Amino acid sequence: MNGRTWALAALLWATACGALPVVQPPAPPPAFAPWQADVTRILTAARADRGAYAKLTQLCDDIGNRLSGSAALERAVAWAQAAMRADGLVNVRAEAVTVPRWLRGQESLELLTPRPLPLTLLALGGSVATPPDGVTAEVVVAHDEHDLQLLGERIRGRIVLFDNPMPAYTPETGAQYGETVRFRGHGAALAGKLGAVAVLVRSVTAHSLATPHTGNTRYADDVAPIPAAAITTEHAALLSRLVARGERVTVRLKLTALNDGTAQSANVLAELAGRERPDEVVVIGGHLDSWDVGQGAHDDGAGCVMAMQALALLKQLGLQPRRTIRVVLWTNEENGLAGANAYARVHAGELARHVAALEADSGAFRPEALTVELDDPEEQAKAAAQLAQLTQLLTGMPLAIRQHGSGADVAPMKAGGVPLVGLIMESSTYFDYHHTAADTLDKVDPALLAEGEALFAALAWTLAEWPGQLGRSTR
Ligand SMILES: [Zn+2]
Repeated sequence: MNGRTWALAALLWATACGALPVVQPPAPPPAFAPWQADVTRILTAARADRGAYAKLTQLCDDIGNRLSGSAALERAVAWAQAAMRADGLVNVRAEAVTVPRWLRGQESLELLTPRPLPLTLLALGGSVATPPDGVTAEVVVAHDEHDLQLLGERIRGRIVLFDNPMPAYTPETGAQYGETVRFRGHGAALAGKLGAVAVLVRSVTAHSLATPHTGNTRYADDVAPIPAAAITTEHAALLSRLVARGERVTVRLKLTALNDGTAQSANVLAELAGRERPDEVVVIGGHLDSWDVGQGAHDDGAGCVMAMQALALLKQLGLQPRRTIRVVLWTNEENGLAGANAYARVHAGELARHVAALEADSGAFRPEALTVELDDPEEQAKAAAQLAQLTQLLTGMPLAIRQHGSGADVAPMKAGGVPLVGLIMESSTYFDYHHTAADTLDKVDPALLAEGEALFAALAWTLAEWPGQLGRSTR
């Protein structure tokens, strides 16, 4: 009986009894109720499982960080395949992807006036080098785009410091990463167009212990590229204070960074084959590459091992899904999205039978929300309502449902009509570690990592078993 029939039955009952239908009709039976017992069993087993943490330990301590083009990333590609074969998964394979190679090289930044002081930095990914002797210039400060316009001609020949602080996290506003990160991505192009000789960007974090945060920078085709580096929030604040009091602040920036063509990498796939509809697929995954500092533990080793272990767990429990569940570990999320684009392109003919694509790329913290995204707004709203019902199965894991951005690696599948789902974790401390030397295994709580595994396993199982499709049909 679907919801409309229930409502009609309630109305008829009320009319037959001679009462006005002032009482709410009974709620329709939850569409996902038949899978409650399975989900409870999956959650219990996943919460007791430390297999994801064991995998993350290998990835972090034996391989370490893994930027596109590095030998370490290719060791991770081999490791992930071996691990998933050992777990008994099928169709384990690497699908070749050409990725950019950027090399950090040597880097230094010195304050020259008003007093000598070494400054802590990380070049931004994709940055060009300085001349061998470095770039020595006066620093001008912009807190936002308006400041940049006011500076006008004073930018020519200078180094622009973009000093826009990330606001403190609150549960209401979240981390506000998207709003704060813009100068890391576009600052070099904006300042370069106005004649700057280099840019420094305040690290994108609200809480710093003198740790610089890297990330990608993108040049504009019509502006000559200029060197770009992130500095700590502490040093950004210091330079801003000196400039604000009228000091002449000069620095010397030296980078030997190199954009070194392309390299071969791969997306890694593995499956639990469907028992009834093997050609229909639920994708779960994260990105295997990371920045070239730290261990890429939260970003996104966590998402990878949650997905890998979720599938291993279903296999261990003897659960063979109606549809195929496929783990995808994408390559090159951080500086190119070549893996995400390659997957959507290579599997274009299959996307109509992708019933959902789920990505976790927000660290190993308490699951807080699911985001849902579909190319059709009506279908998206319907999918959000369906997910709200599905999450009622997840005992002890209350999740908000949000209708927007669901993950960089699944995004290219949107045009193919695939329902995209993001697993979003609580983010009060994620950006303390994000893209830094401090994103290491010791920052990961094994129990919270297991919560992520539990969420992946429960969602993947239910979406693979439920005969309906997100956004398209109810049962
Ligand atoms: Zn990431």
